[in-house]
Amino acid sequence: MENKDKSYFQGIADGMKTLATGLKITLKEYFTPKSTEQYPENRKTTLHVSKRHRGRLVFKRVTEQDLADSKIQARGLQLGDYKCTACTMCEKSCPNDTIKITSHMEENPETGRKKKVLDDYQYDLGDCMFCQLCVNACNFDAIEFTNDFENAVFDRSKLVLHLDKEVYKGGSLPNLIDGGAPLEIGKFNTKTK
Ligand code: SF4
Ligand code: SF4
Repeated sequence: MENKDKSYFQGIADGMKTLATGLKITLKEYFTPKSTEQYPENRKTTLHVSKRHRGRLVFKRVTEQDLADSKIQARGLQLGDYKCTACTMCEKSCPNDTIKITSHMEENPETGRKKKVLDDYQYDLGDCMFCQLCVNACNFDAIEFTNDFENAVFDRSKLVLHLDKEVYKGGSLPNLIDGGAPLEIGKFNTKTK
């Protein structure tokens, strides 16, 4: 009988201890400074989106700085050209066939050497799981992720993008590519105007 009482009260004590442990975490999180975004109300004011956030894949284009690179010069690329060589390493590294590349071979009439020429670089944003394996596989610095995250559409077919046919100019929001507004930990970023 005595043992039964002991296990009964012991059970209550254990329950209270478990409850206190849970509440301790809740209380700690209650007082921890938050960085909650009141999206979409603050999308044009205080919204911060980390630069490294993976929103969508884009083609990198040759910049003024790139023009000084001997590899870019050797390939005869001009300012604004894309850097993709259609090597298909990104396509092969993609676990779920998000990237589909078509290309053809062209012969240089002067040297007689053949090289691949890109016809189409299809990227299905609706299939992408943002693992970045494609970017890591690229040896030509030709693709990157941007933090442009507002990609919702009503028609899934609109998520099938052809990166070689677009000249990506930046996100849909002002300064988004640079991260938007500065991150203010400890504030609810709610400013709407
Ligand atoms: S993006 Fe890079 S890895 Fe993919 S085909 Fe072009 S050059 Fe090759
Ligand atoms: S991020 Fe991953 S899933 Fe998306 S295209 Fe690249 S390899 Fe494929």
